[in-house]
Amino acid sequence: MAGSPKVGVLALQGDVREHAALLAGLGADVAPVRRPEELEAVSGLVIPGGESSVIDKLSRIFGLQEPIRAAIGRGMPMLGTCAGLILLADEVVDAIEGQESFGGLDVVVRRNAFGRQVESFEAELDVPELGQAPVKAAFIRGPVVESVGSAASVLSALPDGRVVAVEQGNLLGLSFHPEITGETRFHSRFLDRITARA
Ligand code: GLN
Repeated sequence: MAGSPKVGVLALQGDVREHAALLAGLGADVAPVRRPEELEAVSGLVIPGGESSVIDKLSRIFGLQEPIRAAIGRGMPMLGTCAGLILLADEVVDAIEGQESFGGLDVVVRRNAFGRQVESFEAELDVPELGQAPVKAAFIRGPVVESVGSAASVLSALPDGRVVAVEQGNLLGLSFHPEITGETRFHSRFLDRITARA
């Protein structure tokens, strides 16, 4: 879209391309973010799935941890999926030694809460904020949201009550991967947040 705000995908590790393709399909002007200057040039950031401890470590090596925290503090819209949710959580259970998060979401998440890669599954989720049609969600060694503080709100839970989607102001965090099942509504919601600030 001409004149539309530029949207970043944190491109240190993980499924960067899938998010970039989905956002481009929604008409967004997408750019990879690997350096502080690239973060400065975007109005919103997707933190993809991958391996949260690796993304954390690389973000510190690339000098992005503090700029990302500052952007969260300024209210920059961000969408974190899977490892991205872990990185946006204020507290991480079962993190590796020394693992840090950016924080911002008033939640506690547990890494790898759904078991191993071979235990990946797809589920249909009710997400009332996104309308009637259920969300098709792919869970791949995802985290679960173990507790939700007063500043965050639940967008969706599995039928057994485990919370898998949360929101707080301009931050959205998902335990699963909407980008690999063709689910576009979370990304649209994220883009709407950016447009609302522009
Ligand atoms: N298990 C990964 C982690 O802890 C997340 C998996 C994913 O993003 N698909 O970061």
